[in-house]
Amino acid sequence: MLILRCAPKTDPKIKTLHYKQTSEQLTLMGFSAQNNVEGEDDNDNLVPDSVYCFQTNCSSCSSPCETRMHLIEIPHFREVIIMATTCDYCGYKSNEVKSSGAMALRGRRITLKLRSEEDLNRDILKSETCTLEIPEIDLHLTTGALGGRFTTLEGLLRQVRKELNDKVPFASGDSALPEKKSVFDSLLKNIDKICELQLLCTVILDDPMGNSYLQNIYAPDEDPMMVVEEYERTFEQNEEFGLNDMKVEGYE
Ligand SMILES: [Zn+2]
Repeated sequence: MLILRCAPKTDPKIKTLHYKQTSEQLTLMGFSAQNNVEGEDDNDNLVPDSVYCFQTNCSSCSSPCETRMHLIEIPHFREVIIMATTCDYCGYKSNEVKSSGAMALRGRRITLKLRSEEDLNRDILKSETCTLEIPEIDLHLTTGALGGRFTTLEGLLRQVRKELNDKVPFASGDSALPEKKSVFDSLLKNIDKICELQLLCTVILDDPMGNSYLQNIYAPDEDPMMVVEEYERTFEQNEEFGLNDMKVEGYE
């Protein structure tokens, strides 16, 4: 089993933005091609129908670049904030998702049988606290790996593949290198096969914070390919996310 760990990123300053779009509208509008409209009223509040832009530094090359922030409402789920950064200098792109609004009181585990093109095209919101598991190919991404993402299932799998390919180094002189490399290469090939539907698999998203979502393409009917379970967080999970010291009652 391959475990990918990344340090959690620090939160940039976030302002509340009252701006509603569905994910479909957002895609139709071409998310990254949207006009840079910055709007604030006299009280420094953000006005609706605007995209809020702020200056950051590229996390790849450190050049100054711009991050655009949108608040969107995912139908049948909740509001999330999407922050998109594109570096004009080196071409680095990122698409981070932060959940917005009240914290979910329960964890959420989503299990999908991936069988078709339609399944690959499902919208997915994977928050930074969500793990991703594909048992058939021994893939397990821990909390924090990949950060938050709002994309399609295929888009997420391709990002996982790219991240693995870019970031998992093999030490030269390691005597176990040929064996490790062949396990790693077959994992990448298996991800390709899943994206081409040559390998059918089970995708398990487990988010103790309850902030992750996979589109039900049969809504409002039950989804025959997907099981969504909610569960009580364990004391250890609450401890991990610093919730045991927080009062959560009354914020439901
Ligand atoms: Zn850059």
